[in-house]
Parts: sequence; C-alpha cells; structure tokens
Amino acid sequence: MTKRVYIKTYGCQMNEYDSARMADVLAPLGFAAADSPEEADMVVLNTCHIREKAAEKVYSELGRLSRLKRQRRAAGGEFLIAVAGCVAQAEGEEMLRRAPFVDIVCGPQAYHRLPELMERARNEPARGAIDTDFPAESKFDHLPEAAAPQGIAAFLSVQEGCDKFCTFCVVPYTRGAELSRPAAAVLAEARRLVAQGAREITLLGQNVNAYHGEATDGSSWGLGRLVRALAAIDGLWRIRYTTSHPRDMDDALIAAHRDVPQLMPFLHLPVQSGSDPVLERMNRRHTADDYRRLVERLRSGRPDLALSSDFIVGFPGESDADFVATLRLIEDVGYAQSFSFKYSPRPGTPAADMPDQVPEPVKAARLAELQALLKRQQDRFNHAAVGQVMTVLFDRPGRLPGQLVGRSPWLQPVHVPVHVPGHVNDATLGLGMMREVRIVASHANSLAGALPEPGGQEASRSGAAVLEHVPA
Ligand code: SAM
Ligand code: SF4
Repeated sequence: MTKRVYIKTYGCQMNEYDSARMADVLAPLGFAAADSPEEADMVVLNTCHIREKAAEKVYSELGRLSRLKRQRRAAGGEFLIAVAGCVAQAEGEEMLRRAPFVDIVCGPQAYHRLPELMERARNEPARGAIDTDFPAESKFDHLPEAAAPQGIAAFLSVQEGCDKFCTFCVVPYTRGAELSRPAAAVLAEARRLVAQGAREITLLGQNVNAYHGEATDGSSWGLGRLVRALAAIDGLWRIRYTTSHPRDMDDALIAAHRDVPQLMPFLHLPVQSGSDPVLERMNRRHTADDYRRLVERLRSGRPDLALSSDFIVGFPGESDADFVATLRLIEDVGYAQSFSFKYSPRPGTPAADMPDQVPEPVKAARLAELQALLKRQQDRFNHAAVGQVMTVLFDRPGRLPGQLVGRSPWLQPVHVPVHVPGHVNDATLGLGMMREVRIVASHANSLAGALPEPGGQEASRSGAAVLEHVPA
C-alpha cells in the first residue's frame, strides 16, 4: 500500500533542493507526496536556523503534529515525525528531550540515511533516532539519482557547507565544512534535468562560488570552469548560481560572466554592510571598496549585469556613520533587488557575545530606511524595462486564464497574455519556450509583457544568448 509523506520546507533554496532529494530517498520505501500532514503517514520538517526564534517556531509546529500523532496512534495507524535541516543539527539531543514524541532528528548532511533512521525509530519508538554527524563521505555519493522532474527552471546543488565563519552566521556550524561535488556528477545531473525538460538550471551552494570540484583528470574545477562545461549542454539555455561570497569571485568566474551568454546577467552577491569596521567585525575579509571594484570588473565584462545583495542592519557596534556608509554603497552600486535583515544574535556565534548590541528600535528604524532605498532602486530597475524587448523563458501558468508567466534574464517574473485576438494563439506559445517579449508595464515585483507584433521594430535589450527556442 502506498504511504504518504508530507515535507514542510523552511528557509532557502538549498532546503527546497534537499526536500526534493529526501522525497527521492523515501520513494523506494513506498512513500508518495502528501499535500498536508493530515493526509500523511510521515511528516518531515526541513528546518532553517538562520532567523531568530527558528527553533521556537519548529517546536510550536511540533506541538500541532504531536496531537495528530496521538489521534493516528489511537486509531491504530503509524505517524512518524522527522525533523531535518539546520535546527535539527543545532538542537540535536535537546530536541528529543523537549519533544520526546519526535521519531527522527536528522542533520543536513545525514538525510541519505533516513531509511536507516526510520528503521531505528520503529524498533525503539521510546528513544527516537538521531543522526547529526558530519560524515567523512559525502551524502551525494549515497543519494539516489534525482527522480522527480523539477520542471523548466531547476535547481542543482553543487556545493555545501562553509568555511568562512562570518561572525553572525550559524551556517558553518550547522552545515559543516565546505564540500564540492565532483564535476562529472554535476554535469550528469544537469544532463538528466535537461532531458526531463529543464531549460534553466540554478546551481546552489551556501557559498557556491567557493566551488572546487574534482574533474575526471584529477584537476580541480572552479565555478567558472563548471559554468563553461554546463553551457555546452544542448538544450540548457540559462545558467544561474546562488549564493556567492565576494571573496570567491575569481578571474575565471568574472570571465565566464563576460564570455558565456547562457550565464544570466543577474548576480546575487551579498555584501552585508558598506562600513569597513563592520565588515571587519563580521569577518567578511573584504572592504566596501573591494566590493565596489569587484562590481566594476564584473560590469566592465557584462555591462547589463544586475545585482542583488543581502544586508544586515544593527550589527553589534554599528554606528550611525557605519549605517550611512551602507546607504552610500547601495547608492553607488544600484541594486535590482535585495534582502535585508535586522541583526539577530545566533547563540554560539562570535557576534552574539560582542559588546554594543544595537537597541531594537534603532535596528527597526535603520531597516525601514534601508528598505525604502532598496525599494526605490527596485522600482527604478523594473520601470526601466518598460518599452524594452527581452527574452522570457515561460515556466508556469499565470493566475489569470490565458496567461503565462516566465522569467526575464534578470529574474523578474513576466506575465504575458497568450490569447490576443487576431495576433497570437495557443499553438505559438507554451511552457518551456523562450520568446522575445515587449514589456508594457512594471509592478512592484513583476513585469507585464506582450509578444511583439510580427514584423514590428523593437528596441532590444536582449540579455540572452539565444533569441528564439520553440521546442519540438
Ligand atoms: N553565504 C551567503 C553569504 O555569504 O552572504 C549567505 C548565507 S545566509 C543563509 C543568508 C543571509 O542571511 C546572509 O547573507 C545574511 O544577510 C543573513 N543572516 C545570516 N545570519 C544572520 C543573523 N545572525 N542575523 C541577521 N541576518 C543574518
Ligand atoms: Fe554564513 Fe555566507 Fe558567511 Fe558562510 S559566507 S558564514 S554561509 S554568511
């Protein structure tokens, strides 16, 4: 009989990818996906520890699941509760003490061992099974091939962990040391994804541009080399990667941005702060001007490159002048989009014990000011697209009938009506196609577009390698 698993994912794209791989691990055990915990025989919470109160949120979700488990048990059924990801890693045994009804606690490097953990949990239901090791062997060597097709825009994890130890961040503790997958394994997975219909692949890693995968000749490939090899895969039209550290933006990767048209002109390059003393206390190991120069080099090879970043306001000791330096950096660089956060002390990280923690109201006021500036920049960037023609890869149906949604080269969602009387019809446009689209309006987080009139003269802001792809 088919069993069902409900996997709830918190946090980043890396976790989304891991959740899909956990589903691959559970599929051979007869588990299909459930749409809710109520329909499931097993629930996995794939957790994220980056934000404040992450653990508390998981415990309150677990409270709800424990009630469900009691009801299911009373009716003679099975209901396994597994907590995976970074909160599982950080809490470890403590989780089984605080929530003894949890069956499995599994760190991000151990989920290939879920079947074993389930077995242990069933044999010893009173104890719970835990695995938060950082095994010497990579989980990627033990995972089954990715099974479920991901669709037109797919993710591919190439790198895990981080050795940077920024003083605010838990990732090096929860995800462990940097580890890169061999280049051949990445290329094989990319070919499989393309054969399943993917046209765009986003390479994932906590610090993806620190990638240094072993090649078949024993040499080590950086991300730039890997991107060039991926670009040779027939049918792979677009390549992206996230998240990068400015220190790992090497010459080969900068050259790839210049030379490889499939590498999209949009880069998430977190800077966190524009103040040198703050950057130093964060252990970012670069200055604000290093970052400005890096952006200049990237843009001199790829002038249409747009950037996004992460910012932290209210890091310990951040003065008004430090904050103003961040605003100045934002003005100098000009971002298309960004994420920004109030500093939140993460237990066990050096910054949590630093003096001069910034009061909450100051953090809130700074965040509001910074976000207002970033919003103005984002609006300006989106508005500049109006009247331009750009390639859009259509990857999902729109909310309205007769509408398709795709992404611009700069990752903006573009909504396009398919039914235009006397102009286009269903047969000419579909999911998985990449077309030139004229942008007719910009909204806060998306663009509206129309297919250009046949034979019309349009100013092109292509940003793409290949102009038209109509798959057979
Ligand atoms: N590896 C990436 C990098 O180097 O920027 C980012 C990884 S982290 C998962 C994503 C973002 O969360 C960070 O860029 C940072 O802005 C934010 N973040 C991490 N720890 C934080 C903390 N303690 N307080 C506030 N924001 C935090
Ligand atoms: Fe965290 Fe990124 Fe710094 Fe690594 S480089 S410690 S993941 S913020």
